[in-house]
Order: sequence, then structure tokens, then C-alpha cells
Amino acid sequence: MSGKSSSAKTAVKMIQEAGARATVARIAVLRVLLSADHALAHGDVEQAAHAAGDWIERVTLYRVLEWLVDKKLAHKTVGLDRVWRFNAHYQTVSNHAHFNCTDCGKVYCMESINPVFALTLPPSFQLQQADVSLQGLCPCCNH
Ligand SMILES: [Zn+2]
Ligand SMILES: [Zn+2]
Repeated sequence: MSGKSSSAKTAVKMIQEAGARATVARIAVLRVLLSADHALAHGDVEQAAHAAGDWIERVTLYRVLEWLVDKKLAHKTVGLDRVWRFNAHYQTVSNHAHFNCTDCGKVYCMESINPVFALTLPPSFQLQQADVSLQGLCPCCNH
């Protein structure tokens, strides 16, 4: 896991490469997403940003998260509890599976699992995006 300063540098670089201005809020939110090992709900992002000393208004936080998704710097997925969660998105990662822990409720991006639906789709259907949901126990809950 990268430290605070290196993830900040990565965040700035990712935002600038997307052709956008690296504002304080954008850097702070993306940095939180980059340093998390699982997808985060709005409240989780808010808490982590505050813990890092970045006070972002809730309205701004919501807007920045949607902006990051829009710019493809992050993506969102809905968990078993119907809560949207966000995770940073390196542009090379496209389709992947999401692992929902049925105990602690954390959602992990399984970026090494690339669903190959294209092979099984009927003729004339073209896949644009896939979100596979897996359920089970995460390493912390799987004693
Ligand atoms: Zn768990
Ligand atoms: Zn994901």
C-alpha cells in the first residue's frame, strides 16, 4: 500500500492526464480511493478524508465522486445493501468482478477476474460493460 504523499502524487497525475484541473477536493477524494483496498461508500470516503486532514463538504464530496466516475478515474458499484461504493480506476482496468463480503459488508474489486461474457452472448448483442457480483467471506471474516 502506498503512503500518503505518493498516492497524492498519483492522484494529481491521474487528474491532470484526464485533462482536468487538480483541485484540492479532487486530489483528496481520489487519494482516499487510491489508498483503500476495497470500494468505499460516501460516508467511508468522508471519514477517511477527514482523518487525513481534508475537510470536504458533503455536497462537494458527492459531486467529486460522480465527477471521478464520469472521467473514468473511478467506478462505482452497488453492494448487497444497495449502497453505492466507489473505487479508483486505473484506465487499463475495464470489466471486473466485485466481491461482496456477507459478514462485514465490504466490497472488493477483483480486478484479476475478467468476465468473458462476450463469448456466450447471442448473436447481435454487443457487450459494453459488465458488473459481476460475487458473494462470500473476505480474508478478515474468513477465520
Ligand atoms: Zn468481511
Ligand atoms: Zn470495482
